[in-house]
Amino acid sequence: MSLRFNAISKLSTSPATEVEESKKITTIFNSNVFTLKVAREFLSDEAYKSLVGSIKAGQKIDRAVAAQIANGIRAWAESKGVTHFTHWFQPLTGTTAEKHDSFFTLKSDGTPIEQFEGDALIQQEPDASSFPNGGLRATFEARGYTAWDPGSPAFIMEIGTGKTLCIPTAFISYTGESLDYKAPLLKAIEALNNAAVDVCNYFDKNVDKVSATLGWEQEYFVVDEALFNARPDLVMCGRTVFGHNSAKNQQLEDHYFGSIPERVYAYMRDLETECYKLGIPLRTRHNEVAPAQFECAPIFEEINLAVDHNTLLTDIMNRVALRHNLRVLLHEKPFAGINGSGKHNNWSMATNTGVNLLAPGKTPKTNLMFLTFFVNTIKAVHDYADLMRASIASAPNDHRLGANEAPPAIISVFIGQYLTKVLQDVKERVGNKFDEQDESMLKIDIHKSIPELLMDNTDRNRTSPFAFTGNKFEFRAVGSSANCANPMTILNTVMAETLKTFKKDVDALIEKGEKKEIAIMHVIREYIVASEKVLFEGDGYSQAWEKEAEKRGLPNVKTTPLALDAMVTEKAKSLFETNNIYTHSELEARHEIELEKYIKKVQIESRIMGELATSHILPPAIRYQNLLAKNIAGLKEAGLSESAYSNQKQILDKISEHINKASDLVEKMIEARKICNAMDNTRTKAIAYQAQVKDTFFDEIRYHVDKLELLVDDKEWYLPKYRELLFLR
Ligand code: ADP
Ligand code: MG
Repeated sequence: MSLRFNAISKLSTSPATEVEESKKITTIFNSNVFTLKVAREFLSDEAYKSLVGSIKAGQKIDRAVAAQIANGIRAWAESKGVTHFTHWFQPLTGTTAEKHDSFFTLKSDGTPIEQFEGDALIQQEPDASSFPNGGLRATFEARGYTAWDPGSPAFIMEIGTGKTLCIPTAFISYTGESLDYKAPLLKAIEALNNAAVDVCNYFDKNVDKVSATLGWEQEYFVVDEALFNARPDLVMCGRTVFGHNSAKNQQLEDHYFGSIPERVYAYMRDLETECYKLGIPLRTRHNEVAPAQFECAPIFEEINLAVDHNTLLTDIMNRVALRHNLRVLLHEKPFAGINGSGKHNNWSMATNTGVNLLAPGKTPKTNLMFLTFFVNTIKAVHDYADLMRASIASAPNDHRLGANEAPPAIISVFIGQYLTKVLQDVKERVGNKFDEQDESMLKIDIHKSIPELLMDNTDRNRTSPFAFTGNKFEFRAVGSSANCANPMTILNTVMAETLKTFKKDVDALIEKGEKKEIAIMHVIREYIVASEKVLFEGDGYSQAWEKEAEKRGLPNVKTTPLALDAMVTEKAKSLFETNNIYTHSELEARHEIELEKYIKKVQIESRIMGELATSHILPPAIRYQNLLAKNIAGLKEAGLSESAYSNQKQILDKISEHINKASDLVEKMIEARKICNAMDNTRTKAIAYQAQVKDTFFDEIRYHVDKLELLVDDKEWYLPKYRELLFLR
């Protein structure tokens, strides 16, 4: 029996895996996290104060205190049965990395002890020479080190009965270059903090810290493990490279928000328990639009923590799924013809005084503050749309952007009718002659219209890549498998830069003798005018929008290799350098790494296509072709007239055509790959892989293979079909 039928027959007998009865969430939440509350218990006053100072105000922790903290963390971890620790980090491979060390060691006289030294907490040197570095460490220094990030608390990862203490860290080269996702994010958070505090001080002198906040929404597919294992393309690249649409897919819209299938429900509950223990504040779970597609989302958090939590989540999702004989697909487009998966990044900024800077205020003064941050965000996205696009560019996201139910590759901003009108008002009424009599203008009553505003923002914005949703912006174009750190680093940086310029512009007017509020209104007006072409309220998925966007001069870069160019323009280099995020060489290294990732992903997909076509598709097709041919010959020999076998002959003709075309195209694709592989320049090679391999062959080969799927005897077909992957569970 083929893997496919084996998998199907197993499926019908596999019940949902039992999970423990749900506990009250508050009793397990954070139970595996070294929270400040735990720290209070396990640390001396001095060590505790130093830890808090470092978390709240970024103060440096000295080595002696670090030793105390390390001891406290070890005592706590040991009380929970932990024997090993690891520095946990996020290299640019897109997964997480860890290398476990035990607390166990031998003293010089051979006495065995358990210890965790301050130095081991603060810094470790993983043997990391095989992580991608874009040539950085080759040119600068052979090794990198991981550095403790006190802003993200230590946690205990449980795998089976094994427990490991994980210390969140940044990964940096000895010459100081960032080699991971966290280091630049921390820098961007700091840049935004500085710029936003300065602007907040126009309105409130008590603000001395602004933190970016992030609430991600993680979409994913779930498939049965045995079916997954019978699909080498899913195993190797996380998406199906072949597969005809099933007769029914999402057209009935019966899956969205429908009742969750039992096996998946058990999985979700199990996953949630693991998440709660690690302090990931999951809040929602539901079915998504496509069959077998789901989503979960937490309560938003400070952005560094939110990013770590999302990274942890994706790791745990895969592990927990295995316990349920399920597989989670985080790929942006695992199935053609139905929705892909994204990771909406809900983003805002919060002050130490407890104000959400993107929430319309309750008084005219706070409204002006809201308007300031709101308009600056639009301006930032407008001015750096190309970088926003680059921040979400990846080989898998290319399959999703612009496809079924996904934002297009054009970056635009949705703000809703009501705020559109507010901006229009400001634009028209704050003329050059704006003076104090017009101050009524400042009293825009935004808060009274919040219900209206939210209503307005629920539905029509679904097609926007960057939408204002009442008290936050939602960056929707982020891919489901992406690390949020990269798009968030870029968003925070462009926002920091825009706010800095805003402050300069306002100060210049104040210096000329303008009243503060009026100066602010003038600059806001100027920014509205300068960036309004990025605003779009219509259907982002429509053809008409592509045309309109082109007229407006908005960039629409459809492929990753070209989108990535934005990272290394003069404008980008100076932006990242002046804000202390990336040096030129770091940017170039990242650009190189992203291009290499792209090449490798397309290369792997292309190989798996060739391999599957030859070893999985053609053999049953040829057998069936033979059967038909023999049958026709037999009928002919028996003296039957042509009309008796003309239909079979038609099928035979079709099958023969698709077999020939598919195998011919596979040969040609291999030749095309050879030409690409011989190229030296990474960018040229990536573009060639996209144009000469992916665009030239993928769809066409798939077309013939998918036709064969419909023609060949079902019991001969090896690969689980879409109807099985998506509807059986
Ligand atoms: P939906 O967008 O599906 O309607 P919500 O608006 O409730 O759902 O929230 C989506 C995500 O946005 C959640 O993770 C939520 O915590 C987050 N969110 C809400 N407010 C903020 C904020 N101020 N900053 C960042 N994220 C936020
Ligand atoms: Mg949402």
